Amino acid sequence: MEASRRRTQHGANRANGKDSEQGEQPAQWGRAWEVDWFSLISVIALLCFAPFIVYYFVMACDQYQCSVSQPLLELFRGETTLLSIWARSPSVTWAAAKIYAVWVGFQMFLYMCVPDVTHKFIPGYVGGVQDGARTPAGLINKYEINGLQCWLITHALWYANAQHFHWFSPTILFDNWIPLMWCANILGYAVASFAFAKAYLFPTNSEDCKFTGNIFYNYMMGIEFNPRVGKWFDFKLFFNGRPGIVAWTLINLSFMAKQQELYGHVTNSMVLVNVLQAIYVLDFFWNEAWYLKTIDICHDHFGWYLGWGDCGLYLVYHPVQLSSGHALAVLLLGLVGYYIFRSTNHQKDLFRRTDGSCSIWGGKPAHIECSYRSADGGVHHSKLMISGFWGVARHFNYTGDLMGSLAYCAACGFGHFLPYFYIVYMTILLVHRCVRDEHRCGSKYGKDWKRYTDTVPYRLIPGVF
Ligand code: NDP
Repeated sequence: MEASRRRTQHGANRANGKDSEQGEQPAQWGRAWEVDWFSLISVIALLCFAPFIVYYFVMACDQYQCSVSQPLLELFRGETTLLSIWARSPSVTWAAAKIYAVWVGFQMFLYMCVPDVTHKFIPGYVGGVQDGARTPAGLINKYEINGLQCWLITHALWYANAQHFHWFSPTILFDNWIPLMWCANILGYAVASFAFAKAYLFPTNSEDCKFTGNIFYNYMMGIEFNPRVGKWFDFKLFFNGRPGIVAWTLINLSFMAKQQELYGHVTNSMVLVNVLQAIYVLDFFWNEAWYLKTIDICHDHFGWYLGWGDCGLYLVYHPVQLSSGHALAVLLLGLVGYYIFRSTNHQKDLFRRTDGSCSIWGGKPAHIECSYRSADGGVHHSKLMISGFWGVARHFNYTGDLMGSLAYCAACGFGHFLPYFYIVYMTILLVHRCVRDEHRCGSKYGKDWKRYTDTVPYRLIPGVF
């Protein structure tokens, strides 16, 4: 039905003459309209097993001193059963449900009810009401950017509690970790289900909905582009950026407090992980206006992938004290990765904001001119930069991100595989993202994209991939 709606739309465009500007190519950028069998099986498997994969790793830390293979070996030898492993793990508790509800409710309150003031006195910070990118239907949404302020208020309260009020222990997140994980899972599936039903019943903008004809794929990758409740409650910005990312640094602080409580000291590896991840989180909020122009907001529809996926522990069980050389190497890897990640993102942002009238690595950036068409038939022009890090590889920002992620893992030493799950996960996530993005850009820009990939032939690592 949707395909015929698109065909009708395309026919209408032809009738009003807009097609003539770009030949016969239909306007079809955005994610896939048709789903192959491999994608479908992967989607169903992820929907069924993703929470249990996460549970497996946390359980392995809790019951098997972070050994990933031990539970499998014991199961294989018949020394334990799935039921007994399950019975030994805490399940959802009322205490965790209350903590989680208060947490999400508080973040919603900050997001909706406390308009940004920080941009008025922090030089260089872009906050307050900002425009998003043009959607496939041609709309430009407005967003209230107040993430940095929410992060600051939340962390100031955490600090005040730890130092003065003592309403709760700073180890609260560690102490309720598995029950909290189940609460986050329940919310993730609930939000994805709500977004799915909302897309059919009361979509925010029906022109930007995308149906594949496959219910599982629709549920996973989302139907609505920018689901909202009311004028300002934007699902993507809130669920991608707030309860999870604000909590990230608090979770690390809670783990650090637990290490102090258990061993009487905090290891240098724990400090390293806290510092490197805090830089990443603060960077995210400092650049939240930039985040409006990333794939999450500009191109992905809102479904389970974004809703569930948004909703680190090893060092508490294994307090690793690194040698100075090892700690320095990890710090360098993390900082160089962060530098590449930030500079690459900044270069594209600057280039796009100034329409190429800027300086990259001391000169005017070279680019490839390209054009594309939105679903309403309008033809738009864009530029793909081929200078700076964007001339080194097509996704060098992901390479920097992966170097930073590897640094978090390497801070845990080489005793166990479990912390390295993070780099495996991030590699799969970003390589998959890279492939999806290139597929989308290929459909959007056609032959212009081909000219770009001929000029910058590698995706992540020059000469390799
Ligand atoms: P990018 O910032 O790389 O954006 C890709 C888009 O940029 C393309 O779709 C295209 O959009 C445009 N583009 C591509 N090539 C060029 C070029 N040469 N010149 C100008 N514009 C170009 O990707 P993301 O939005 O995925 O990532 C943003 C950051 O977020 C990355 O650093 C990534 O590492 C990070 N990230 C981190 C995650 C995490 O969990 N830690 C998860 C996801 C992302 P257009 O259609 O406008 O041309």
